[in-house]
Amino acid sequence: MRIPDTTLQLLRAIYRGQREGYLTLTAIHPSKRLPTPSRHIAITDKTTVHQALADLMTANAQGWGAYFSVALRQQPLDRWKRGGQSDLLTLPALFADLDGDLSTSFQRIQAAGIAGMPGPSAMVGSGRGLHLYWLIAPTADFHTANLVLAGLAQLLGGDVTTAANALRLPGSRNTKSEVNRPCQLLWLAEQRRYTLADFDSYKAEPPPQVHAASSTRWRAPPTLSDELNPALVEAVVDVLLRDYAGSIQKNGWIGSLCPCGHARDQPGRHFGFSPRHGAARCFGRHGQILLKELCTLIGVDPARYGGLYRKPI
Ligand SMILES: [Zn+2]
Repeated sequence: MRIPDTTLQLLRAIYRGQREGYLTLTAIHPSKRLPTPSRHIAITDKTTVHQALADLMTANAQGWGAYFSVALRQQPLDRWKRGGQSDLLTLPALFADLDGDLSTSFQRIQAAGIAGMPGPSAMVGSGRGLHLYWLIAPTADFHTANLVLAGLAQLLGGDVTTAANALRLPGSRNTKSEVNRPCQLLWLAEQRRYTLADFDSYKAEPPPQVHAASSTRWRAPPTLSDELNPALVEAVVDVLLRDYAGSIQKNGWIGSLCPCGHARDQPGRHFGFSPRHGAARCFGRHGQILLKELCTLIGVDPARYGGLYRKPI
């Protein structure tokens, strides 16, 4: 399958000069019922990147959505992982995902521009909305990047995204049955390059609970379910608080962004994790999420903490 020129143009602009890290390409079936395979390819291996893009376009022609994760990963992860924040090496672009009415989106972009927002480096028509990209000097400050991504989303009325997110590849087709339109690069202004610091005034305010939670490390309560490994539960809570805008609720649950991703999400709106039970629930379409699955989603490796369960004494 031929790779459209515009796909390569955008990827070249984003990853120009990268000497390490892995590009994550993912095929997502529109039904969301089929498993989601990813490939993680060394960004310096142009031949394999081209082959993987051609394969992804073939899958796209068969109805799968074609995505790439903007941040490069540290390692080639396995086929069923997309990677969480702890897997990221570097983020070479900021982005915004505007899913709503196009004329409203254009008005907001224009108003934000007049108010001083740095001009986007690229605009993509996703088939249903707009994706904006700002090329930046690659950064590993994912905490600040997430605050800026949240701030840009608020300003422009976009979906909440994080540095670990994947976006639809321009040049592919949006295969959602209700959409079925091409996702296209509308324009690219490659000379517009920024640093993360240029977006300092766009950082979203983290909710106050996050400050409180991050100043004192969360500790597993003594009432933790007997079988669960407290060190692992603490690691999961830490990642939810830090990377998914989580906060500790009165009932002891952690409310945060759903790690599976939603078109519209706010911390705690869909997703909660009960540290006591080691169970997570999305009140949106993702339902019950087992601790093991949650670990995969947010990039916590249970083996590093001694496994899912407490060692028998
Ligand atoms: Zn969800």
